[in-house]
Amino acid sequence: MNRFFIYLIKRLYIKLDSALPSHESKNICGNCYKCCTAAARQKVSSLEEDYINHFLKEKGFPSSLMEEYEKFLSLRLNLYNSSARDILCPFYTKEKKNCFIYPVRPYSCRIYGNYAIAVEDLPEKCAYRKLVSLYNEKNLIKVIPCSEDYASIAALYKVYIKYLTFIGRLFYKS
Ligand code: SF4
Ligand code: SF4
Repeated sequence: MNRFFIYLIKRLYIKLDSALPSHESKNICGNCYKCCTAAARQKVSSLEEDYINHFLKEKGFPSSLMEEYEKFLSLRLNLYNSSARDILCPFYTKEKKNCFIYPVRPYSCRIYGNYAIAVEDLPEKCAYRKLVSLYNEKNLIKVIPCSEDYASIAALYKVYIKYLTFIGRLFYKS
């Protein structure tokens, strides 16, 4: 993965983590892991998917894990597949009750619970229901830290990938 984008996403996560409310550092979730199932419908950018893949390769994890994660992400975004709701993210370990890609977990996982459009968007027993800050389309940038930077970096990465694909096709043709 391109080093410049690794630098950008790492820097963004550091900035975001320091801007999140301080209860983020305490374990207020207890035994709950609902937001690590397909019931939570957060999106993940292609930049973050590639960054996670880079992390897995670096740590020597099998590539099948990334394939499982991609399947999980597509299940998570399928609003009509209610039978998939309990499927767990392949990076969550029930035994240790943690996310084993925690340092590189996506933006949406980092902000989950702290920000939502409506309290009802969080699971019924979510401890963050009492702490959540609500946002809407108009105030999103003001309310959610680093949201503008995140959108810009993710968009820039998409352009970069398109450019690489274009160049690749040119070489393939010649
Ligand atoms: S990446 Fe980690 S924090 Fe995010 S859903 Fe998966 S296990 Fe949970
Ligand atoms: S943020 Fe809410 S839904 Fe997610 S693990 Fe914590 S309590 Fe459960």
